[in-house]
Amino acid sequence: MSSQNIPATQHIKGACGLAPETVKVVESNPDFSHPHAVFGKDKLWPNGSDISYSFFGGTANQQAAVQSVVVEWTYYANINLTQADDHDADAMIRIGFNANGGSWSAVGTGAEKIKKGELTMNLGWIADSPTISADDRGTILHEWGHALGLMHEHQSPARGGTLTLKTDKVYAYYRATQGWSNDLIKSQIIDVYNLNNVSNFSKLDTTSIMMYFMPASMNAENIEVRVNNKLSDMDKAYILINYPRKRPHPKAKDWTLERALGVAGVPAEDIKGYLGWSDESIRTEFEAWNILQRQKELGKALVYVQYWGAAD
Ligand SMILES: [Zn+2]
Repeated sequence: MSSQNIPATQHIKGACGLAPETVKVVESNPDFSHPHAVFGKDKLWPNGSDISYSFFGGTANQQAAVQSVVVEWTYYANINLTQADDHDADAMIRIGFNANGGSWSAVGTGAEKIKKGELTMNLGWIADSPTISADDRGTILHEWGHALGLMHEHQSPARGGTLTLKTDKVYAYYRATQGWSNDLIKSQIIDVYNLNNVSNFSKLDTTSIMMYFMPASMNAENIEVRVNNKLSDMDKAYILINYPRKRPHPKAKDWTLERALGVAGVPAEDIKGYLGWSDESIRTEFEAWNILQRQKELGKALVYVQYWGAAD
């Protein structure tokens, strides 16, 4: 498929910028190796956090769309979301709806590094309509995934085992459809995350809400990544393990910690151990297991990423 054939909504939906704080993190780590759910290192909120959010603008329809969609993350993550008054400079997540500002978000606790009163998230593409489209749902879930600590799936250190980007095609596509500079394309699409900046990540999950749409022509494996507007099972499992729920949410009764660990690939004999641990131990043990596991699967590719990680 040529880039010209892609419908306009997908051009836009295909790319989410990151908050200034995050861009700096990515750009300061040049990594051109080809070695994902991907969590930012030290970006997770404490488990069980009450996370307040405030709207800085937006119509009643747009605000209602966010309120009704974002709650889905809380079925899996052990966090509470509370809405503060509009324009509350002290709210932890500050959401704008600037139509020309694109869609972007700070990653997890990175929001604390943004000056009070300034936006930590912009949702530039949400329709002013009482009906929520699948695309709008996807955008809200994606940006809130960032707000909870998730990074982009397509920049996962695990990408190399699954997707080999045709970089000339990638540059041409984003220059044509987004008007991005080569530097921006490199930092947002081509570069994979450095292991210093991620805490845990799954095998590449092309159905993740954090994965960009990608035409088959952009990778050697000819995999067409569709626009994802729903949380994948891996998204649910990883957010649940990183914000451990000792009891499933009434709206997702079958999503126990046990199931989430199974979906993530933790061997059955090890799962029992996790169930008795503190929230903090669950996170750290899972992180340790996860890195070892990915290392086994990716072999040299991951070691190569680590080398670059150690160099900066
Ligand atoms: Zn994004």
